[in-house]
Amino acid sequence: MAAAALQIVCALLYANLGEWLMHKYLLHGLGKKPGSIWAYHWYEHHRVCAEHGMLDPGYRSLKWSWNAQTKELVVLAAIVALHMPLFFYVPFFAAGLYAALALYYYKHRRAHLDPEWAKRHLIWHYQHHLRAGNGNWCVTWPWCDYLFGSRIKSPEGPADH
Ligand SMILES: [Zn+2]
Ligand SMILES: [Zn+2]
Repeated sequence: MAAAALQIVCALLYANLGEWLMHKYLLHGLGKKPGSIWAYHWYEHHRVCAEHGMLDPGYRSLKWSWNAQTKELVVLAAIVALHMPLFFYVPFFAAGLYAALALYYYKHRRAHLDPEWAKRHLIWHYQHHLRAGNGNWCVTWPWCDYLFGSRIKSPEGPADH
C-alpha cells in the first residue's frame, strides 16, 4: 500500500517536472523557430490567446485539422505510448502519470474556454499567457515553478491561494 502511494506521488512529481521541462525547452525553446514541430504552441496557441484575452476557440470543438489542439493531443498520446511499458514494472506510477496527463488536458482546455475560471483556479497559467511566456511553465500545479524560481506573479492577477 505504501509502495503504491509512493509510486503515485513520484508520478505526480515526474509529470510536473515533465510539464516544466517540455514547456520551457521544447514548446518555447525550440518552438520559437518558425519551422519547428513545436512551433504550434508559440505561433498558434499563444498568438490566439493574446488576441482573445486568454480564450482559445480551438478548444471549443475538436476538428480533424492539424492545429495546435490536435498537435497537443498527439504529443499527449506519444507520452502515453512511451510510458506504457511502465505498467509491467510500476503500475501505480503509470496510472498516476496517466491521471496527471488527463488532469493536465482538462485544466488547460478549461482555462482557455473560461478565462474567469483560469483566473481563479489556474492563475499561474493565466499569468504565463499574460507575460508572453516568461516563466510560469507549469500548468496543472505550479510546484516546479516554485522549486526552480520561475513562478512569476504579475500584479494584474489575484494572489495565489
Ligand atoms: Zn495555454
Ligand atoms: Zn507557453
